[in-house]
Amino acid sequence: MAFANYLNPETFKEAKRILKDGSTSQIIKSISQKIIRGDALSREEFIYLLGLKDSPDRKALFNLANAVRRDNVGETIFIKGIIEFSNYCKRDCTYCGIRASCKVKRYRMEPDEIVEVAIDSAKHGIDTIILQSGEDPFYTTDIMIDIIKRIKVDARRPISLSIGERTPEEFKLFKEVGASRCLLKQETINPYIFKSVHGSDYEIRISLLKMLVSLGYIAGGGNIIGLPNQTLGDIADDIIFMRDIGIKMTGIGPFIPTKNTPLENHPVGSADITLNAYACTRLAIPTIFMPTTTALGTIDPGLQYEGFEAGCNVIMVNFTPDNYRQVYRIYDNKRKVEFYETVHELLKRGKKLSFSIMKALREEEMV
Ligand code: SAH
Repeated sequence: MAFANYLNPETFKEAKRILKDGSTSQIIKSISQKIIRGDALSREEFIYLLGLKDSPDRKALFNLANAVRRDNVGETIFIKGIIEFSNYCKRDCTYCGIRASCKVKRYRMEPDEIVEVAIDSAKHGIDTIILQSGEDPFYTTDIMIDIIKRIKVDARRPISLSIGERTPEEFKLFKEVGASRCLLKQETINPYIFKSVHGSDYEIRISLLKMLVSLGYIAGGGNIIGLPNQTLGDIADDIIFMRDIGIKMTGIGPFIPTKNTPLENHPVGSADITLNAYACTRLAIPTIFMPTTTALGTIDPGLQYEGFEAGCNVIMVNFTPDNYRQVYRIYDNKRKVEFYETVHELLKRGKKLSFSIMKALREEEMV
């Protein structure tokens, strides 16, 4: 299917600029031509783009990704609010600081408290409420249904789940009672790496993610950049996988080493490759909801804002009550992305926020 130029004026303009630019390579020129035609990029092309270091080609990649973003999802930056409601986890993923065998202080928020925090976050006008936790069977099907239903009625914002693996039947029920989005990152599509780092079954996780798509969820995939033995080819495969199965949201973040985990001495993931992966994913899935992640902001807060120059259009702010947030240590020194600070920074940088956020800010006389 070819891009109609009149529907993608920014992309067309940017691609033409790259074609005329004497400082960019033939490879990025031919990639630009493919983007104009609406042709899918190849694994080799993604590998080339993922490996770009500071250069005219990298600048061109970011500009192209941002043009694709503007043409397909507009200028708005969406702010989602995350509530980390439990750090109990039955899995033992080697990268994660709340893995079952890590000795950390554990907490569970009561359903009443989760609903209360959700209502408070909704008052800020946030675009989605994300409920995140370790894999915690304490929250049975019925308890989850009750929480989702109450948030749906009282907070009236879209609900996104990020609670790990549940049965297909549970995901179906959660959707029926009001969860419209679900994030279940593949973490890596390379089965050998997955099996070496993740505490669950590769085939089950991948089939669940595909099932979320077929259930009609706005389904979220994503990976960790910088896992042991991961190559640029693996990251290209992650992007192609998400494109081919119909993923609509993604969480792509650098690996952050965490004390007392098997990967505590493994180096931090590359911020450059993460930013390149954002741009590639925007080219691969033009309409994707893609946050610039807290993990990237944990390396450096300024880097998180650079994500918006590489095709991202979402940021997640944290509404977890502080006493819990401090022990929701999926990785060390996890940055607190705070609502007002984020809004302030985005407005300062001239970004456009959604209608509901602006309305809430006006009501509080913040703008
Ligand atoms: N238990 C849920 C939610 C996980 S926490 C699930 O398994 O789906 C959300 C994300 O944090 C994970 O999907 C993982 O990609 C990321 N994460 C965990 N530990 C990390 C680390 N050390 N560095 C970077 N990202 C990490």
